[in-house]
Amino acid sequence: NFSVTVPIRSHDELGELAQSIQSLANELNYLKKERNEFLASISHELRTPLTYIKGYADIARRKDLDVSERTSYLEIIHDESQRLNKLLDELFNMAKMDMNTFTISKETVRLASFLETIHEKVLPAFQYKKMQLHLECKEDSSIDLDPARFEQIMLNLLDNALKYSNENTVTTIKAERLPGSINISIIDQGVGIPDEDVPHIFDRLYRVEKSRARNTGGFGLGLSIVKQLVEIQGGTISVRSKLNQGTCFTIIFKGDH
Ligand code: ADP
Repeated sequence: NFSVTVPIRSHDELGELAQSIQSLANELNYLKKERNEFLASISHELRTPLTYIKGYADIARRKDLDVSERTSYLEIIHDESQRLNKLLDELFNMAKMDMNTFTISKETVRLASFLETIHEKVLPAFQYKKMQLHLECKEDSSIDLDPARFEQIMLNLLDNALKYSNENTVTTIKAERLPGSINISIIDQGVGIPDEDVPHIFDRLYRVEKSRARNTGGFGLGLSIVKQLVEIQGGTISVRSKLNQGTCFTIIFKGDH
């Protein structure tokens, strides 16, 4: 730990300097603790799919298995490899953003047609789960953003709406121009987020009910990446949610578009 003993308590410049050093040391200790916790969680997340892969590979190698048994073990190995791949992708993305080696290239895009393309892309997944996906975008504003990154944001939020909703519910992508801003919301009628979890929802590795997330395959990294992607493009993101009623994520880009 960074321990500092600063016996200087005078109310002059030296005293102020001593105080600054003390709070810097506190901050460093806090960051160190956060980093260690993050590494511990990540190691755990990496180990879990690997344990499955190794375990089922051992069983699948047995000679006395019939084809269907072997296939079902191979399915698990395949799914867990995909999970591992997704985690590594997300970690890589995050590391790039943290190192500021992440470049964004903004373009002027027509919001309505851009959202229509995304809508078309994800609609089959919603239909497959017997859910509806509506698009409400009246005005065709132009907006400056990085199309690839923005698509990543939308796909992530829509994927969550899909994961955390049941069939026969409606998810709506809504874009509206207000005085001085463009607001884009994704509104679902899903399971919702408990009040006490809402303030932490954008934190790294934060998940509501780990077991629920494990079944749906999440790591709790998606929303923290979404938030970073929104902010590096100059926007903000917020969430409102009601348990068992639904969740609404709103992205706001300020300025006259
Ligand atoms: P994950 O990959 O686990 O979904 P995220 O960072 O995307 O991680 O989300 C963090 C947690 O927030 C999730 O575990 C989930 O419990 C909750 N969550 C995110 N989006 C929604 C939503 N649309 N409805 C309900 N809960 C959600």
